[in-house]
Amino acid sequence: MADEIDIAERLRENELQLALAKHQKNAGMRKRGSEFCEDCGDQMLEARKMSGYSLCIECAKDRERMESLFAK
Ligand SMILES: [Zn+2]
Repeated sequence: MADEIDIAERLRENELQLALAKHQKNAGMRKRGSEFCEDCGDQMLEARKMSGYSLCIECAKDRERMESLFAK
């Protein structure tokens, strides 16, 4: 019984990941997130790529700062 639940969980996880990958592909993204930062071209950290980010931490911070400036 526990095994069945486990398998079902895993299948659902796979489906979610497939759907996510497809969605990101449709959004014009390479693979998961971007391999390189959109702004500075630095290689992205694996964890950030997996989360679908396309900016490195530094550029994301910069952009956040800019956005907060423009929001005023
Ligand atoms: Zn960057």
